[in-house]
Amino acid sequence: MSGLAIITEACIGVKDRACVDVCPVQCIYEFDPHQHVLISEDEAGGGVVENTHAANEDTITIFGDTLLYVNLDECTSCTACYQPDVCPVGAIYSEEQLPDGSPQSPKYNSADPNKGHDHTFFVQLSRDVFADSSDADVIATT
Ligand code: SF4
Ligand code: SF4
Repeated sequence: MSGLAIITEACIGVKDRACVDVCPVQCIYEFDPHQHVLISEDEAGGGVVENTHAANEDTITIFGDTLLYVNLDECTSCTACYQPDVCPVGAIYSEEQLPDGSPQSPKYNSADPNKGHDHTFFVQLSRDVFADSSDADVIATT
């Protein structure tokens, strides 16, 4: 499906959940390290859990609870979360608009202090962190 939402590393350390508030299907998840489960909330920070998924042990440890994750099996590509006025740091893209790190690619948020991964990395990460993902292909963690 085109238009799936991908969260990238600029979310790290920001994680203000603005995208959660605009998602109509609660498919943006946060890792709860105490329960070791991915949770989505009806209202960001409201404490009312809408849905949960088991986390993939091999990949959730890469970033843990430092950023949010879109479940691509549940995202409806509605486009709400990657409108320019939602994410304060430009961390969320449609899959097709994701900079790929090549010289021809649009410049990614140059102020991002967490640069280091090709942003296509986050497409696979979005699939791999959910233990029951339909399209997981566990990425290397080193
Ligand atoms: S594109 Fe729509 S359904 Fe998908 S994560 Fe963003 S707000 Fe949610
Ligand atoms: S992707 Fe952007 S809007 Fe969503 S939690 Fe991270 S920083 Fe906030």
